[in-house]
Amino acid sequence: MTMHSIVASASNIYCVGRNYAAHAAELNNEIPSEPVLFGKDHGCLTLGPVLNFPKALGTIHYESELVLRIGVPVPLGKFRDLGCVAQIGVGIDFTARELQTSLKQKGLPWFRAKSFVNSAYLADGFRPIPEGDITFKLYRNEELSQSGCTSDMIFKYHHILEFINTTMPLDPGDLIFTGTPAGVGPADIGDRFRLVCEALNVDSSFEIGPQC
Ligand code: ZN
Repeated sequence: MTMHSIVASASNIYCVGRNYAAHAAELNNEIPSEPVLFGKDHGCLTLGPVLNFPKALGTIHYESELVLRIGVPVPLGKFRDLGCVAQIGVGIDFTARELQTSLKQKGLPWFRAKSFVNSAYLADGFRPIPEGDITFKLYRNEELSQSGCTSDMIFKYHHILEFINTTMPLDPGDLIFTGTPAGVGPADIGDRFRLVCEALNVDSSFEIGPQC
């Protein structure tokens, strides 16, 4: 399946917040007792290689994450196992951090800080879930910024999908961003990023272009 058809067939985009303890701590958030969910619109998806962000948003942070893609429909409440997952890949959940912080402080929804053009990057290389733990790394201007491993996830794939499915059916093409490890930071104009995941055979580069 091509990356363009993965984008074209994407239906809902779900994201999990605070799914790695060290990342929750770096943003002074409590460890959640159940998954923290939010969403992005389809128009957020991008394959790069140049990402332009809207100038209205202030500082944008990168959050590298494993991304599940649903292949088989699951009616509401019928999730049983990972057989419904077609592929897994890696991506970035870009976040307007200052805006998110100020919205959080006011007790308002984060929507505008998470759902904006080019805020959901997908790296080339979605494939069936491999055996064993998956490690992924994000380099910013050739310096290691983030290193994540599925063994550090607070809520594993099964728990996340079961939780989403208590309120929503899962549709083929749905994408689930499964949370970011520690080390988030700014994505500035001219930065070059490289996302690497050996278990998925991913080595994908992109850069941040001028604001749009
Ligand atoms: Zn995230």
